[in-house]
Amino acid sequence: MEIINKKISIIGAVRSGLTAAKLAKELGAVVFVSDSSSKEKLETNLAVLDELKIEYEVSEHSEKIFDCDFMIVSPGVPENSYAIMEAKKRNTKIYSEVEFASWFCKATVISITGTNGKTTTTELISYILNKSNKKCVTAGNIGVAFSEIVYALKDDEFVSLETSSFQLDHIKNFKPKFSILLNITPDHMDRYENNLELYKKAKLASAKNQSTNDIFIFNADDPSIQVDEIKSQKYSFSLRHKVDSGCYWENDKIYFVDDNKKEKVAATGDFIIKGEHNIANAMAAVIVAKLIGCDNSSIEKSLNSFPGVEHRIEFVREINGIKFYNDSKATNVDSVWFALKSFDSPIYLILGGKDKGNDYRQIEELIRKNVKKIYAIGSSANKVYEFFKNIIEVEYKQSLKDCVEAANKEADKGDVVLLSPACASFDMFDNYEHRGKVFKEAVRRL
Ligand code: ADP
Repeated sequence: MEIINKKISIIGAVRSGLTAAKLAKELGAVVFVSDSSSKEKLETNLAVLDELKIEYEVSEHSEKIFDCDFMIVSPGVPENSYAIMEAKKRNTKIYSEVEFASWFCKATVISITGTNGKTTTTELISYILNKSNKKCVTAGNIGVAFSEIVYALKDDEFVSLETSSFQLDHIKNFKPKFSILLNITPDHMDRYENNLELYKKAKLASAKNQSTNDIFIFNADDPSIQVDEIKSQKYSFSLRHKVDSGCYWENDKIYFVDDNKKEKVAATGDFIIKGEHNIANAMAAVIVAKLIGCDNSSIEKSLNSFPGVEHRIEFVREINGIKFYNDSKATNVDSVWFALKSFDSPIYLILGGKDKGNDYRQIEELIRKNVKKIYAIGSSANKVYEFFKNIIEVEYKQSLKDCVEAANKEADKGDVVLLSPACASFDMFDNYEHRGKVFKEAVRRL
């Protein structure tokens, strides 16, 4: 794609907007960045734009943003923002940052989306491929924007690209060689105006752009995933039954089936990562690795040594036989369901934070069965308390430190203390990483 002298307006001056601006400028475009946040909040980012001699405005979006060949929007910009609504009215072309970066990508793109498991699977794919002597980097929703690394990638390399639904909202032609859809459960309904169909549409968007020589990998156990409109070669994975093409799990082993040939790839008993959901993530990764040509013994070794990702059912410490786990990234009810399923021992559960429209009925039965006590925290503590008070013991707590100290006194040998809050963290913390670190620090200080 040629963008020399094209006028490009970039909405959002944080990570992906900033790197898209830099890439566009390097490729000869005339770039204008606009962000509705204040100058103070954006200080370091604006310094980068100054250095690159890129024009920008802050605190508001002026008329100037519509004077362009097209707009690039950052995933943080909501659909109902002035910039997007007005651009749509004026028929201004809008692209997401992921789509923009993909125009310049020589490497093979493996796009991973779904409600839960994206980061784990993105990291795992990269881990397996690199251990099999393929060169793979991670990017996208995972810390490094696609625009930041895309230009350096070579055609024999791979990029394991975590794509959130927000990043897929404005794709037109983004067409990854591999598109993985892990699962679809309600999340971010606040941003999708409670419309699950809109959310599903975003999750399927990149797969719908694929052609017959591309590959779509999906979760066969998830009834929300409809694959009829997808033209690419389909591979699926299942924890519950055999599949015709893809992976399934039987007697603690992962099998891969392709062209009517079945082979055992790995036993799952020695995985460091916990829970059946991680076996599902592993199967998605195995399909990619097999189709790229990694051998079984190398895949199995990698699966056994993959340490998992921080803040995802992360083991912190054992004290007097009580094990503490940090699952701060569990920001929706579905991921808590999987966390609760991952333990055989009784659980002291820390729940609550910024609620995104949670329906706790989904975990009610598991809470009854596996949880001894709930500590309710954050701005949704009251909702947690009211829902569970007649089911099991619930206690309000002011801080994670209070929860950790109480659990340490109240739990018995063999119990688990789990932070798996089902909520976003912004009521009390900067982000989920901050929440996880505060939890771990409190555990370490015991
Ligand atoms: P994402 O990037 O999609 O948010 P993560 O890998 O960061 O996914 O995991 C987020 C949360 O979801 C963690 O609590 C993790 O334990 C849980 N999780 C991971 N994989 C799955 C899955 N396949 N299904 C449900 N929950 C999952």
